[in-house]
Amino acid sequence: MNSPTPVDIVDHQGSGVLEIGWADGATSRLPHRLLRMHCRCAACEQQRRRGAGPRDAGAGLRLVRIDPVGGHALNLAFSDGHDRGIYPWALLRQLGASSPTQQPDSPCPTPASSAC
Ligand SMILES: [Zn+2]
Repeated sequence: MNSPTPVDIVDHQGSGVLEIGWADGATSRLPHRLLRMHCRCAACEQQRRRGAGPRDAGAGLRLVRIDPVGGHALNLAFSDGHDRGIYPWALLRQLGASSPTQQPDSPCPTPASSAC
């Protein structure tokens, strides 16, 4: 499978959502706080290994900077001062697919499931 490639990145500061349009036509809407909670930097990974995980920074959290990294990822800086998170396209795509805001009306956890 080819790795996903974004063709459009729009930051909605008002609603706190990063919108990514992919080359295959899919769109991911990623709340800033969700991105913050899935930070993969060394410090956050260490917290996660201890079972703590990054603290929920709340709905008021915003992205303050978006920097492309080597054409395969984004470096995101947040309003709580955290700016070490590197988000590869594959992770952003995965977060968009699992985001509960994507399909608020669906009772099924996975659309492909035939059980429900
Ligand atoms: Zn982090």
